[in-house]
Amino acid sequence: MRERWRSGLVLLLSAVLLAGIVLFAPGSENSAFRRLIGIGDDPLGTPADVPAGGVYAFLEHQRGNPDDPVAWDPCKEIHFEVNTDGAPDGAEDTVDFVREAVAVVAEVTGLRFVYDGTTDRRPKWDGAFVPLGGRREPVLISWATASEVDELKGNVAGLGGAAAREGVDGRLRFITGGVTLDSASFDDLEDERDGEEFQRAILLHELGHLVGLDHVDSPAELMFADNIGQRDFGRGDLNGLVRLGEGRCS
Ligand SMILES: [Zn+2]
Repeated sequence: MRERWRSGLVLLLSAVLLAGIVLFAPGSENSAFRRLIGIGDDPLGTPADVPAGGVYAFLEHQRGNPDDPVAWDPCKEIHFEVNTDGAPDGAEDTVDFVREAVAVVAEVTGLRFVYDGTTDRRPKWDGAFVPLGGRREPVLISWATASEVDELKGNVAGLGGAAAREGVDGRLRFITGGVTLDSASFDDLEDERDGEEFQRAILLHELGHLVGLDHVDSPAELMFADNIGQRDFGRGDLNGLVRLGEGRCS
């Protein structure tokens, strides 16, 4: 712990020292370097090129502008943790499964996700997962049963979402969130043909919510509420994800 704190302090000091140099450096060659020390305002990645078409919807939009979605800050890393308890596979396979799906969303949106490791944290969907005091809790990806998480009751295979906070510029940005997958549904799928693909589709759907996509009426999209066979992001999903990767930096 102490070592971590010390190296954090050293990093902070060097950041302050270097900031002076960078702020006065002309040109944009230094953007990667500015990003590295956390004072840049360039997005960390670039959204994918996707063919136009399909339908998508946003979970939330900026006040008074339905076409301006609430998104994550593309200049900041999105940290996530995995609690593998209740997942059908062993811890290592489960983490691989999650990381592969997160990589798909990262690739399309250009958002930068950072895996912080496994955790014992349990999901809370009653609003308590919004961090207090400005502390940014990593995104939590976990499995649970309906007896623990009420929202999983009924025919619900998973939950996904994020909490936004208003920045000094008056814009809302997501600052934390989570995905909770239904242990029973995942267990059932273990025995199904193509079950693993459907498990992946459920996770991708919930990750879609995590970055700001809402449900749509089209069964051709993965964000269709009642999935009936779509296994990958559809054209509209992809276009929505690209828009959500183009949020404004804080
Ligand atoms: Zn959904």
